[in-house]
Amino acid sequence: MKIFKFGGASVKDAAGVKNVLQVLQTVGHEDVLLVISAMGKTTNALEIVIKNYFEKSKELYSSIQDIRKYHNQILLDLFEDEEHEVYFDVTAHFDDLEYFVRSNKSPNYSFVYDQIISIGELVSTTIVSHYLNESGITNQWLDVRNFIKTDNTYRDANVNWEQTQKLISKINRKKSLFVTQGFIGADENNFTTTLGREGSDYTAAIFAYCMGAESVTIWKDVPGVLNADPRYFENAVLLNQISYREAIELAFYGASVIHPKTLQPLQKKEIPLYVKSFVNPTLPGTSVSKGADLEPKTSCFIVKKNQILISLSSIDFSFIMEENISEIFGLFHKYKIKVSLIQNSAISFSVCVEDKFEKFNELKTVLSKKFKVSYNENVSLYTIRHFDAASAEVVEKDKNVLVKQISRETLQIVTQQ
Ligand code: ADP
Ligand code: ASP
Ligand code: MG
Repeated sequence: MKIFKFGGASVKDAAGVKNVLQVLQTVGHEDVLLVISAMGKTTNALEIVIKNYFEKSKELYSSIQDIRKYHNQILLDLFEDEEHEVYFDVTAHFDDLEYFVRSNKSPNYSFVYDQIISIGELVSTTIVSHYLNESGITNQWLDVRNFIKTDNTYRDANVNWEQTQKLISKINRKKSLFVTQGFIGADENNFTTTLGREGSDYTAAIFAYCMGAESVTIWKDVPGVLNADPRYFENAVLLNQISYREAIELAFYGASVIHPKTLQPLQKKEIPLYVKSFVNPTLPGTSVSKGADLEPKTSCFIVKKNQILISLSSIDFSFIMEENISEIFGLFHKYKIKVSLIQNSAISFSVCVEDKFEKFNELKTVLSKKFKVSYNENVSLYTIRHFDAASAEVVEKDKNVLVKQISRETLQIVTQQ
């Protein structure tokens, strides 16, 4: 079994869906499981629906209508026959969504978020599965919620590996092509959960692990893993081969081409990960596999935008020590704020954090009771792996550096954006 993951960028319009067909025709589709994300920017559009729902905005239904229309255009471009059952299946998913927003009684933001946001993947896989069937590539659509079981940490669910393994083992492997959703799962009450934004890569790794797959390929709009995000750095170069370790480091520091949770399950079973271009599927791309000698020789640049640099000092000028630090980290954990860099001095403690779940204001109030809190919002965290003087110069030039940290392989700086 091979696992292929197609992300939002690869299925953002009808041409993208047709290209998925072409990729499969080019590279083969025997014994393959496709994991597919929501089309284009659908997940962001559904986040607007969620916002409208909680703000009781009169735009709620029109924001759902916008998403229906976007998908309907893709359907019209792919299926001439408007009586084709795909139209009914897609409509049914959107009707479920409207029924949910009309009838839901739960005030739990994260629960509601997951029930709404998951429609994107359900719809995209429905469209791709029908389109492939229509084009002669017979496949079976799987509802991933019957296979990936999680706890009920909505928006950031943890996989129950034992149950997931059991359920995935029951898949009848005689069928040779499967299509399923990335990003989503279900808790023990069968409510939909999600694995965190951009989590479809992780879904591919979960299936690969549980099926003992031969490989995972994630198909991207870039030629593979580059030494920098081409959106922010000129002259990025392709890394042909990297070790799991290197890929884990890059993803951890924020190279958004691979979701950070993807690599550990693959590394455990030594399943290779290929990152390839969906535009040029025959090119080799990047291969991520075992071997310490695969480290890239080039410097790798990673940037995380919209970070917050928080500095804490004690109100009475006492030291910030183990006791305080453990309390501070307990709070970061409680408010689900991800710490990306730490710097400590005698009376002040600085951290660069990412506020994915918009909890910083609440945390700030709690911290202010015990500490003097100062902070800079909208800072950027630059990381250079395998840095040298020239690569450091590239990043530091013309920037207002707030924090700088150097270890043997890694240079990190926090700058005002
Ligand atoms: P998907 O369609 O699978 O969701 P993403 O848009 O999440 O794909 O990931 C692909 C994007 O990741 C690229 O377009 C690129 O801008 C960005 N990216 C960030 N870091 C890197 C890197 N080191 N190498 C390649 N692409 C990168
Ligand atoms: N559709 C989800 C997101 O945009 C998951 C993914 O694309 O990986 O976050
Ligand atoms: Mg993505």
